[in-house]
Amino acid sequence: MLRYRAQDFAPIIYREGSTQGWPFAYDELEPWYTRAEKLYQVRGALGFDKTEPRHSEPFPFGPVLDEPAIARVRERLKGAGLHPFPLPLGIDVDKWLARAKTPWDAFPDTGSGKMDAESCGLSEALRHPNVELRENARVERLLLEPDGKRIMGVEATVEGERRRISARIVVLSAGAVNSAALLLASGEGGVANRSDAVGRHFMNHNCSAVLAIDPRVVNDSVYQKTLGINDFYLDDGRGGPPLGNIQLLGRVTAPILRSNIPRAPEWALSLLTRRSVDWYAMSEDLPNPESRVTVKGGQIHLDWKRSNWSAHEGLLKAFKEHLRAAGYPMLLSKPFDRRTPSHQCGTVRIGRDPKTSPLDPFCRAWDHPNLFVVDASFLPTSAAVNPSLTIAAQALRVADHIVETDLR
Ligand SMILES: Cc1cc2nc3c(=O)[nH]c(=O)nc-3n(C[C@H](O)[C@H](O)[C@H](O)COP(=O)(O)OP(=O)(O)OC[C@H]3O[C@@H](n4cnc5c(N)ncnc54)[C@H](O)[C@@H]3O)c2cc1C
Repeated sequence: MLRYRAQDFAPIIYREGSTQGWPFAYDELEPWYTRAEKLYQVRGALGFDKTEPRHSEPFPFGPVLDEPAIARVRERLKGAGLHPFPLPLGIDVDKWLARAKTPWDAFPDTGSGKMDAESCGLSEALRHPNVELRENARVERLLLEPDGKRIMGVEATVEGERRRISARIVVLSAGAVNSAALLLASGEGGVANRSDAVGRHFMNHNCSAVLAIDPRVVNDSVYQKTLGINDFYLDDGRGGPPLGNIQLLGRVTAPILRSNIPRAPEWALSLLTRRSVDWYAMSEDLPNPESRVTVKGGQIHLDWKRSNWSAHEGLLKAFKEHLRAAGYPMLLSKPFDRRTPSHQCGTVRIGRDPKTSPLDPFCRAWDHPNLFVVDASFLPTSAAVNPSLTIAAQALRVADHIVETDLR
């Protein structure tokens, strides 16, 4: 649960293009980052990462401790000139491990210590007596008032029955693909789409898994994922354009590896994975209007156009050089492809100009005063850190704005 870096809010020049930045600076969002870290009970420590943005308060909890095997990895990386920092995490590791000694990364919450949208966000919202959760409900389209300005409500299938739900304010939060698809499917030319930007600028990080293997050393860690590295985040380490972030993954096991190398025997894969330290390398994907979600004949089409790939290759090269220097002679890496778009965003972006962005800086549709789109769609840039804390911070900021401006 990392914050975007302050520099991510300003224009950045990359090897293969540039970003325009955000319609506001990091300091505008900072108070809500602090609130989001409290809501998600983020564990972390300040002062280890040179790219760290200003924090008005420390993390609500101290960092998740390195397991002994990972503490040794940290020292080896430091010896090779890197600056690993404690990865901010939404996990109560004692509670999680009390249930079973498994990694948590990519595991859904089991009610035992992992902070997610259900265990933190939804459960907090449901404490309010005026909040109702309707399960098995699928929104089919947004309904417009006859004047085409205000949103009347939504049409939804609830428990198999088609219903109309009216509302004074509609907040659409169906994720970067489904929010765009719903807007596009809800009217001629799409709802909130005067800019023709809905569905465009789809971004998804350029990511790779990197397995660093030292055949002499067994990695007996369970959860592993406590380190991040931002040495190549603001530049390439030599003053050139930024490359990205690196962080540990949850443990890669033989069955996981076998899905990528199906012919290899499991015992051989076990030999590798027991000795590997597993990393996740992430680089920014840049907004491109031709990278887009469209709806044709009721079907969602995703045409993701990767960008900035050479920065990602540069990140892998720089990281592998340091891993070799740290004593890991065997290095395997594999990019995540379009079947694993875990950080998708950008399709209904915020901006200052209604001609180029569907939403204003508070995620309110320029075209419809009672419509907000608050999910990963609003992100005007993908940065090169995991997105969920930034989405949560902006959601809290938008909610306060709705209350303060008495839009309710
Ligand atoms: C395996 C995996 C691991 C990840 N790990 C991290 C991580 O460590 N850190 C991090 O920051 N991010 C992580 N992410 C990314 C993060 O989960 C997403 O960026 C984030 O959840 C996006 O939030 P969202 O609100 O845009 O969409 P979602 O969280 O996808 O929420 C959208 C919701 O809308 C619902 N919905 C969609 N369409 C409709 C409809 N028509 N009607 C009704 N409901 C609808 C969906 O069911 C869903 O509940 C990970 C993602 C994956 C897949």
